[in-house]
Amino acid sequence: MSNNIVILGAGVSGLTTAYLLSQDPSNNVTVLAKHMPGDYDIEYASPWAGANYMPVGEPGSKHQAWEKATWPALKEVCEKYPEAGMHFQDTLIFNRKKDQDSATGQWFKALVQPNPWYKDVVPDFETLPESQLEPGIDNGQKFTSVCINTAIYLPWLVGQCVKNGAVFKRAVCKHITEAASAHHSGKKTDVVINCTGLSSKTLGGVLDNKMYPARGQIVVVRNDPGLMSSTSGTDDGEDEIFYTMTRAAGGGTIIGGCYQKHNWDPLPDPNLANRIMTRAIAICPQLVKEGEGIEGLSIIRHGVGLRPLREGGTRIEKDQVDGVNIVHNYGHGGFGYQASFGCSEHVVTLVKEVLQSKTRAKL
Ligand SMILES: Cc1cc2nc3c(=O)[nH]c(=O)nc-3n(C[C@H](O)[C@H](O)[C@H](O)COP(=O)(O)OP(=O)(O)OC[C@H]3O[C@@H](n4cnc5c(N)ncnc54)[C@H](O)[C@@H]3O)c2cc1C
Repeated sequence: MSNNIVILGAGVSGLTTAYLLSQDPSNNVTVLAKHMPGDYDIEYASPWAGANYMPVGEPGSKHQAWEKATWPALKEVCEKYPEAGMHFQDTLIFNRKKDQDSATGQWFKALVQPNPWYKDVVPDFETLPESQLEPGIDNGQKFTSVCINTAIYLPWLVGQCVKNGAVFKRAVCKHITEAASAHHSGKKTDVVINCTGLSSKTLGGVLDNKMYPARGQIVVVRNDPGLMSSTSGTDDGEDEIFYTMTRAAGGGTIIGGCYQKHNWDPLPDPNLANRIMTRAIAICPQLVKEGEGIEGLSIIRHGVGLRPLREGGTRIEKDQVDGVNIVHNYGHGGFGYQASFGCSEHVVTLVKEVLQSKTRAKL
């Protein structure tokens, strides 16, 4: 007997969940979504991400456990599937103690700790000696992380799921229960998995008022600084930040950014774009040729994405709405990729619990 599962949402959360669930031949998976890989839209966060692995979960939290569980899976994809669009990159993290109360400093609190929990998770972790720190930087570290070309990785996930028998369908649901009648077999759905990100705020049957955006603006350039780096804040505003990462397989370099809570503006702000580029060159001069300013950047595009944040943290739990069994997996803020496998493994466990209790109820 097969388990009919509908996953609502085809961002990194829905696709990673589909990837894991579709590996079990007893699961018959439909992925239903308004946006699919290839689309660029303000309601679809995943294509806009860098994306890299820079853990931010507080020690002892579920968030930390999800990020810790995700590293080995990303490492495996990186090593075994070069076609997935992910590569290892040297990473530098810089902390300014003066950022500790700002929006960006709070976001990066666990990342910039001098002795962080992830030092034993990622390879090659080193604390930078003071002699290698620029004035104003209080501590810094170096490790090997991954950078994901989302334009390749998301379609790769789709391909893996299709290979495992999953079926992809476009639809816009007004209410979560509509997904239950959309299984491609035409048969009754056993479980719906809600991976709708920020839209869980407005989706009928969910209407989660704890959801809000943290706006991220980026510039994608052809220049390559040769490493990934980030600082806890800038002097340009308490929600502005510096980071740079070069995507695998010709994906260009992402320069960021900002972390503007409750800001829904989908359009790039040209003044902010100027600040992003100017400070990137000041902090990372190897982005351009010696003596060049922002005119030395070869711009591919400007972009804006909304990180789906949730007060109280990511929601991964079982629910029932009008008799439909639901497992929620949304509210991944700025860490949807770096927590993707940990979160989806948690969902798989909850789906098994739902299916077992259905079987028990039938006996
Ligand atoms: C600028 C920026 C940089 C980032 N950098 C990183 C990074 O380096 N590392 C990292 O780990 N994370 C990063 N993130 C965060 C990451 O992008 C998000 O956490 C992640 O993409 C959220 O994925 P999701 O699948 O939950 O949601 P989404 O990608 O938003 O997908 C939601 C899906 O649900 C569908 N949907 C919604 N409502 C409905 C409906 N009613 N009916 C049908 N379908 C519906 C949508 O069409 C879509 O398919 C970044 C984000 C931004 C914006």
